[in-house]
Amino acid sequence: MNRFPVPSRIRQFATRFHDAGFSLYIVGGAVRDQVIGRSTNDYDFATDALPQQVVALFRNVVLTGIKHGTVTVLLRGESYEVTTFRTDGTYDDHRHPEQVHFVSSLADDLSRRDFTINALAAHARTGEIIDLHGGMRDIEDKCIRAIGDPLLRFTEDALRILRGCRFSAQLEFSIEQTTLHAMSSLAHTLVSVSGERVRAELFKILDAGRPSVGLRAMQKCGALEVLLPELAEGASVTQKGNHRFDVLDHAIACCDAAPRGKPLVRLAALLHDIGKPRSKAVSSDGEVTFHQHEIISAQLAKGILDRLKCSNEEKSTVLNLIRNHMFHYTEEWTDGAVRRFINRVGCDAIADLFDLRRADRMAINGESRFDDLVDFMKRIERVLAESSAMTVRELRINGNDLAALGIPRGPLMGRVLDMLLQTVLDDPSQNEPERLRTIARLFHEQRIDVHGR
Ligand code: ATP
Ligand code: MG
Repeated sequence: MNRFPVPSRIRQFATRFHDAGFSLYIVGGAVRDQVIGRSTNDYDFATDALPQQVVALFRNVVLTGIKHGTVTVLLRGESYEVTTFRTDGTYDDHRHPEQVHFVSSLADDLSRRDFTINALAAHARTGEIIDLHGGMRDIEDKCIRAIGDPLLRFTEDALRILRGCRFSAQLEFSIEQTTLHAMSSLAHTLVSVSGERVRAELFKILDAGRPSVGLRAMQKCGALEVLLPELAEGASVTQKGNHRFDVLDHAIACCDAAPRGKPLVRLAALLHDIGKPRSKAVSSDGEVTFHQHEIISAQLAKGILDRLKCSNEEKSTVLNLIRNHMFHYTEEWTDGAVRRFINRVGCDAIADLFDLRRADRMAINGESRFDDLVDFMKRIERVLAESSAMTVRELRINGNDLAALGIPRGPLMGRVLDMLLQTVLDDPSQNEPERLRTIARLFHEQRIDVHGR
């Protein structure tokens, strides 16, 4: 491809710049992806117009990243992110450029970018492709190569090391040797990159066809050890039974096997066994055990998710999956046991937990038949259809009713409600207001008697 097929709305947009004496280019990911043949909707533009000059050209402009020369033009229901050509000032902490300098040449702007494949530009009116760093050839060779001196480029911004791993996963490209060497030499500087930036790249790795490609690149250059040491610890920790892999390889295989488009399930898959190295024990007869590893895994995962600045909702989803990944269903389970399982996991998390379990089993020994899980899911659906209460909120008694019985609001009432729910999970026929009142009263009085309060 030697010309970028510029959509007509973008050509019209570029004409506004042209008529005012400015140039406009499509830059970065959109050109790369177009050349590769991946779909793109996310266009970034670069121009020699200063931000104020862009503001003057259009009626509706939002100053989205004015500090870095970026504004967003709103035009006919579309938005266009436009950045003035710039070079980056000094990076004193491997993070953000302290300041940026606006420049008038596209060439200067392109040479501040990270990888050759990301330094292609397309003229936004004519579609002519400008390739000053051999990006087209590297795309052809499926190669990720830093622009200029890789050591210098990764010293300017350590995040680029992780971005290299991310692009290798997204595009299934390999990393050129000198670039990889520089990544390895400087992987330790990734500690100073903010959790938010690491998280953004990590989630893009999790969203790739095969996250393993990016995770292996991270392992190879040492980024895994620096950013996820708890996971890296699983290397060479062997397992028992029909496990094909050590703990780390199993986690990576499990992550690949979890559904694309469910990044949190993939994250849980990656972290579900990180407690194994610390819980491994070998008995005198040589038997290997990992008692309670799911609890230790969840504790360690909490630390990782905190570092990555994950939201509380993301944390609770991932940790719940990890904590509950060790269920062993058999037909002998009573309906009460099934209801307690549903209550413990939470109705909304069951499909994800099953996804995790399937991925886990595929990663253990390549298993691909899950008849028992299908049976269990049918059983869960049946039990749910028959049951009147799976949560405290569905009990046919509430806090006001309990308060009327003299049970004080607070932790004690919480315990009474929980006890009533356990009773109903065991025997749904107990979910009648009068029954529940009687049970609550008895429980309350007994507690008071027992504790003499
Ligand atoms: P995608 O949007 O698909 O994740 P992208 O290549 O567009 O990929 P962005 O993070 O959106 O990546 O960045 C846009 C462009 O800005 C990149 O293609 C690259 O040229 C440049 N860029 C982004 N981050 C950096 C960085 N840390 N160092 C150097 N150049 C960067
Ligand atoms: Mg982009």
